[in-house]
Amino acid sequence: MERFRSYSSFLKEYYGEKVYKICLNGGFSCPNRDGRISTKGCSFCSRGGSGEFSGNPALSITEQILSGKKQTGRKYHGNSYIAYFQAFTNTYAPVEHLRKLYMEALAPPEIKALAIATRPDCLSDDILALLSECSRLKPVFLELGLQTCHDTTAARFNRGYKTEVFDEAVKKCHRLGLRVCVHLILGLPGEDRSMIRGTIDHINRLPVAGVKLSMLHILKDTPLADLYGADPFYVFSLEDYVDCVIQCIEALRPDIVVERITGDGPKDLLIAPQWSGNKKKVLNTIRRELDKRNTWQGRNYHEPGITETL
Ligand code: SF4
Repeated sequence: MERFRSYSSFLKEYYGEKVYKICLNGGFSCPNRDGRISTKGCSFCSRGGSGEFSGNPALSITEQILSGKKQTGRKYHGNSYIAYFQAFTNTYAPVEHLRKLYMEALAPPEIKALAIATRPDCLSDDILALLSECSRLKPVFLELGLQTCHDTTAARFNRGYKTEVFDEAVKKCHRLGLRVCVHLILGLPGEDRSMIRGTIDHINRLPVAGVKLSMLHILKDTPLADLYGADPFYVFSLEDYVDCVIQCIEALRPDIVVERITGDGPKDLLIAPQWSGNKKKVLNTIRRELDKRNTWQGRNYHEPGITETL
């Protein structure tokens, strides 16, 4: 029994086959790091802009796709891929430059969709118009980093925008038919379980199609690592994290695709929690515990659905 709506089963439903993501690096920066909003970045964000597993920006997009296909060749024998712009803020460039990169990524017939990770405050009307144009060629999956709906927590980790900016962006994307997945971090300093539940309830009320859940990682050379080094604060134990993820799944609207339930920070940068480096163990523990508790996505979801005027 599927206890939550997983990304792999969503892709199978959508495409009728397994589809593999190829991580691309368009050589972007981020306004929260280059000084336009701030020079500090989000306090947990690594040097690589949370995209350590993405491609080599010195290569063209076409070359990165070829190289990504080669890398997946050993474990994947199909020929359907999603071109995933992952590192930094992938809509942070003049629209004509974005058009060139996105169109190059969409061109190969084996690329079935475009996935783009970005900030909600980097979606101007002309960029949204470009994304809408791309979505008429192939589906566009946008990934927006919210992490929490609580502006007080967000100010602490220097997110650089208010939650209402995210809400507005999600509604605009929805009106244009762009699928939005939201990234959330569980265990941010200062947040308890009721605040995390508040964030799940918040996204339940929005036209969000997917969610990626991850534990807070403390990575080397980040402002968060300095804070942690000076005054170590609580980070989730595996047991607490599993319990928290299950509570999130139980509270989540049943139609939202759970695209990720753990995170894997780069091992050479990971300070804490060390157990998160064993992704397989984390996934197996969550799945086993869901079975043991005989629980499922939406079990504690009581909202009437999307209540806002779209
Ligand atoms: S918006 Fe993304 S890339 Fe920019 S600092 Fe925050 S996590 Fe890093």
